[in-house]
Order: sequence, then structure tokens, then C-alpha cells
Amino acid sequence: MGEIACREPSGSRMTSHSNGDTSGATPLPAGSLAIPSQSPAVAHGACLTIDLDAIVANWRRLAAEAPGAECSAVVKADAYGCGLAVVAPALARAGCGSFFVAHLEEGIAARACLPESDIYILNGLAPGSAPAFAEHRLIPVLGSHEELAEWAALSEGQWPAALHVDTGMNRLGLRVPEALALAGDPLLARAGIRLLMSHLVSAEKPDEPVNARQIEAFAALRQALPGIPASLANSSGVFLGAAARHDLLRPGYALYGGNPTPYRTENPMRPVVRLDSPILQIRDVEAGDTAGYNARWQAPSPRRLATLSIGYADGYPRSASNAGRALVEGVACPILGLISMDLIILDVTNVPGARRGTMATLIGDGLDIDAVGQAAGTIGYEILTGLGSRYVRSYTGG
Ligand SMILES: *Cc1c(COP(=O)(O)O)cnc(C)c1O
Repeated sequence: MGEIACREPSGSRMTSHSNGDTSGATPLPAGSLAIPSQSPAVAHGACLTIDLDAIVANWRRLAAEAPGAECSAVVKADAYGCGLAVVAPALARAGCGSFFVAHLEEGIAARACLPESDIYILNGLAPGSAPAFAEHRLIPVLGSHEELAEWAALSEGQWPAALHVDTGMNRLGLRVPEALALAGDPLLARAGIRLLMSHLVSAEKPDEPVNARQIEAFAALRQALPGIPASLANSSGVFLGAAARHDLLRPGYALYGGNPTPYRTENPMRPVVRLDSPILQIRDVEAGDTAGYNARWQAPSPRRLATLSIGYADGYPRSASNAGRALVEGVACPILGLISMDLIILDVTNVPGARRGTMATLIGDGLDIDAVGQAAGTIGYEILTGLGSRYVRSYTGG
């Protein structure tokens, strides 16, 4: 049965729905479903395992890059799909004091599990929302004169805020000349500005000239608006050198195991997420046979196929059809044909031991989220944030 249960990254017991060993023969209550306690994968399809110790280790690793600075954690989008309510308290226990989310609602959810932390709302102040920010002690990242004025009218210096300046993204934030013009303006104090912030356009590509332009523009802003702590670096920005780091690091992706330095071969972060799914059936096909909807794969020779209990409705991207891979007994097996809503077909010809119940690894054991993103024609960020709620979710560590 061992191979049917969710795999564990570290050998520790999993904190999943499993009741543990049934050999003690506690009778099931009458009418309950007799699902073998060791096989949540059989009951639910795929297993998603999130390593909280790895998230904490990654946060420490990022903080160590900038010893004089504070390291925050970006936990927007449900902590990049990993579960805000579990991830954020684990980071707070490790010493993380500042968190960033995108929306007011995410901030309210973060406040519920982070009673003391600083919680910043990246998408700023929606019209009329200032009282809700104050009620939940949330810190808006103000990105326009309208937002500044609205917040200042409520705060009068009592409630803090961050000021977002756009140094190249053309997305959110005051334009650089608008921000420079605020030098000496009492509006900054009335709005409780305690953090000056900007966001990098291409930090994962250190050779892009836009990095140096943004770093320079941000340094000039700090000179014009002295005495305000500052934050520029996302995950990849942490690795762009001291001039990009400033007072507060703002990593997201790298906390969850994403590679912040894709231009190097080694990912400095520990993997966090693993995704396993059991093989439901094995079949042999002849040369010329096809597999899946619309017959988008045709066997070039006799092959052995395995069908996995996971599909695009679980959050595994359909765009990885005929391109992605899964590991079976350590062997990389190609995904064949179109990914279905609930099923994926693998070529397991090179894994003679594969059989019904054998687990396949879609993320993990060196098959990382960056590689899955690449196979799907997207980025690892989208793989993480698309992770569904259909899996058995387990957390290890923490
Ligand atoms: C999402 C986000 C981050 C985190 O970026 P990563 O690349 O995931 O580290 C930091 N700052 C802002 C403004 C963001 O929107």
C-alpha cells in the first residue's frame, strides 16, 4: 500500500487527512465510507505536499543576502497557492514581521492569522475603502495623488502607508516627476508615509539595461525624499546586487521554491511544492494507435501508456499537453496527447515496474515549478498560483 499513499519529501509523517494505521482495528462508525486510511490519493486523485520548513529556510536564505535589511514575505494570491493561513503564521513564527498581499480582502484574511504583523496592500486604496484599512490596521501602498489625498484625509498622520513610485513598469504608482515634486510637501506626513517603494521590470534578467535605469531613478527618489525607509527588490531583485536591496526585501516567488536566478544553473532556493498522482490504469498500444481527445498523439511504435488521476481541472495546465513530463520510479515520462479535465496519459514504456497504484510525480524530485512552467509555455508563478483545491493538501514541517 505504501506506494499508493502520498509521498513524503523528508520521511516525516504527513499531516494529512489520514487516520494512520488501521491495524489497531478501531471499527469504522456505522455508515462511514470505508476508504483505506493510507490511501488519500485513491480517494481524491492527486496529492499536493507543501514543505513549510523549506519556505522558512528560503526566507532565511533571502534575508541572509542582505544582512542590514529586513526581509518581508509576499503572500498575495493565497501565498502563491500554498495557503496563506498556514504559510504566513509559519513565517511570522520564524521572525518575519512584514507581509504584502494584493487586495484588501487578502489583507483582512492575513490580519486574521497575523495579529501583530505589518500587512501592506500592494494594489492600493480602492475608492472609499480607507476606513476598512484603518479598522484592520492594514497599510495601503498608495499609487496616485488621489489615493494619497484620500488616505491623508483619514489618517492625518495616525495611520501608516507606503508610497509606490513607478520607475518603469507603467502599471501602478506615481510617476517619478510627480514623486520628486512631493519633496518637502506636508502631505507625506499627513498620509503617514513610512515606506518608499518601486517594482522592478526585469529583475530576473540582470543584463537588461532597464535594471540600472530603475536602480538609478530609485536612488534619486530616496535623495529627494530623505528619511523614508525604502523597498525595491522582489525575489530576483535580491540577487541584483546591493544597490537594489535598500531597507526592505519583498520576495514572493523564491519563498515558494521558484528560481530567482534563472540565468544561473543552480536554483539557490529549496523546493517547496510536490504534486503526486496515482496511476489508474496501464495499457499497451500498437504503432499507429492514438491517445486522448482529438487523437493528438499517435504511437510511433508499440508503447505502454499509464493514465494518471489528475487533469487541468486540478490546476495542471492543459497547455503542457504533448510537452510536460512526470517522474515514475525516477524516470521522466512524457505526457501524451491532450490533457483531459481529470486525466493525464503518460508514456511509461521505459518503466517496466509501473503498475496500477504506482505514484507519478508531476512536481518534485528535481522536476521543479520552473520546468513545469516552461513545458506549459508559461512561468512557474502561474503554475503555483493555479494549484487547485481538488488535491489532498498536506503540509510538512512548520
Ligand atoms: C508580486 C510582487 C512582489 C513579489 O515578486 P516575486 O517576483 O514573486 O518575488 C514584489 N513586489 C510587488 C509590487 C509585487 O507585485
